[in-house]
Amino acid sequence: MKNIFKNTIINKISKIAVENNFDVFLVGGYVRDRILELPSTDIDFMVLGDATEFAESAAKQLKTNLDAVYKKFGTALINYKEYKLEFSSARKESYKKDSRKPKIEFSNLEDDLSRRDFTINALAVPLSNPEKIIDLFDGLKDIEKKVIRTPLDPERTFDDDPLRIMRAIRFASQLEFQIEPETFSAINKMAYRLKEDKVVSQERITNELILILKSKKPSIGLDLMYLSGVMDYVFPEISTMAGVDQTSAYHHKDVFHHTLQVVDNTAKISDDIWLRFAALVHDIAKPKTKRFVEGTGWTFHGHSEIGARMIKKIFNNLKLPLNKLNYVEKLIRLHLRPIPLSEEGVTDSAIRRLAAEAGEELPDLMKLCRADITSKNPEKMKRFIANYDKIEKRILEVQEKDDLRNFQSPVRGEEIMEICNLHPSKAVGTIKKAIEEAILEGIIPNEYDAAKEYLYKIKDDILNNIK
Ligand code: ATP
Repeated sequence: MKNIFKNTIINKISKIAVENNFDVFLVGGYVRDRILELPSTDIDFMVLGDATEFAESAAKQLKTNLDAVYKKFGTALINYKEYKLEFSSARKESYKKDSRKPKIEFSNLEDDLSRRDFTINALAVPLSNPEKIIDLFDGLKDIEKKVIRTPLDPERTFDDDPLRIMRAIRFASQLEFQIEPETFSAINKMAYRLKEDKVVSQERITNELILILKSKKPSIGLDLMYLSGVMDYVFPEISTMAGVDQTSAYHHKDVFHHTLQVVDNTAKISDDIWLRFAALVHDIAKPKTKRFVEGTGWTFHGHSEIGARMIKKIFNNLKLPLNKLNYVEKLIRLHLRPIPLSEEGVTDSAIRRLAAEAGEELPDLMKLCRADITSKNPEKMKRFIANYDKIEKRILEVQEKDDLRNFQSPVRGEEIMEICNLHPSKAVGTIKKAIEEAILEGIIPNEYDAAKEYLYKIKDDILNNIK
C-alpha cells in the first residue's frame, strides 16, 4: 500500500535530511489532513536542531531560495511549486498573561508536540520512518472519533493563547468535528480573553471567523461561537439576535437560528464569503427595530435600511476590507425589495427600479432572497420559490428590453452642460436625474435619441424652477 506521507517533495526533503544529518518530522495540519484524506499543500516540518540551517540546505538542493527566515524563532519558509514548506525548530514555549507571543526555547520532540493546540494537530511522522506515527496525546483516536481536544489542560491552553479558542471552533466547523466537553467548558470560561486588551489582534480573530464562513456548513462554527459565549465578545450584534422571537406567517425561529439557516443556504449555492457574510448580517437590525403590534404580532419596520447603516461600524470593528462594504450594505438594504414584486399588477418600472438600484449585485441579491426562505411548510416553500422564479423571469424580460445593468442617463453630464449652457453645478445633476427617472418610469425608452429629446422638453422647466 502507498504510504500517505510520501510524495515527490517529501521524498526530496527526506533525502536532504539524511544527507545533512538532521532529524526531521512532518507535523501539524498536513499530517491531520492526509489521515483525513483531505487535500493539503501546506507542509510543516519540525526539525531537531536549527531549522533555518536545514531549510537553507533544502533550498539550495531544491535550487530555490528561502522565502522568509526568522532566525530568532528558528523558522523558515520555502514556496516550492504548489507547496508551502514551513520548517520550525522543535521548541518549548512559555507565556506571559498580557501576550500570546511566547518565550521560546529550542527543545525536543515531546516538548514541541505538547505546545500544540489540539491533539489532532499534535501528531508527528519521522521522515526517516514514515510508517510510524508519533501520537503522544491520542490524536489518532480523536481523529477517528472526530473530536477536538487540547493535549494539555484546556484552560491553561486557552489562557496562554486565546486565539486557540477561535481555532477550536474553526476546526470544528471546517472538519465537522465535536469539541470535547472539558475543552468546550474551558472555551466558555476563557472566551473573555479574546477581547482582553491587545492579547489577540482583531485581524487574527477575523481571519478565523472568515474561515468559519468558508466551511461547508458555517452554522456549525457560528452556533458554537454563540453557545460558548465567544460570539458575545467577537460579534455581539449577532448574539443579540438570539431569543428575538419573530413568530409570524413567515418565520418560526428566533432571528439568530433563522440567520444560521440562511447562511447555510447561501453556502450551498455559492463559495463567495461576502454573500455568506451578507446572509449573516441581513437581519442585524431586527433586535433594534422589534415592535409588538396588536393583531399583527412582531414587526421589524425599517430593519433593512437600519441594518445597512450598521454595517460600516461592524466592518471597522472587525477590520473587514472596506472594498466589500458597499456590496454588503446594498444586499441588506435591498433584501426585502423583491418580495412584493411578485404580486399581480406590478409595473415594469418597479422592476426597473430594483434592477437599477441593485446593479451588478442583482444576481447575488436574488440568491440571498432565495436563501432567506426558511419556512418548514412545504406548501409555503413552494409558493415563495415560485414567486422568486416569477420575479427573476420578469427581471430578465425587462432587462432584455432596456439593459439596465450599470444604469445611467444615456445623455451624459458633459452634453447636458453644453446643451443647457451650464457650468458644472447642481442643475446638471438634477436634469440627469430627471432623465433617469423618466426611463425608470417607462416614460421614455433607455435610448440616447429619446433621452436627448426628453432633455430639450424638460430643461427650461427645471432651470426656471432652480433659479
Ligand atoms: P490550517 O492550515 O487549516 O490553518 P493547520 O493545522 O495547518 O491548519 P497552521 O496555522 O498552519 O494550522 O499551524 C500548523 C500547526 O502549528 C498546527 O497544526 C498546530 O500544531 C500548530 N499551531 C498553529 N497555531 C497554533 C497555536 N495558536 N497554538 C498552538 N499550536 C498552534
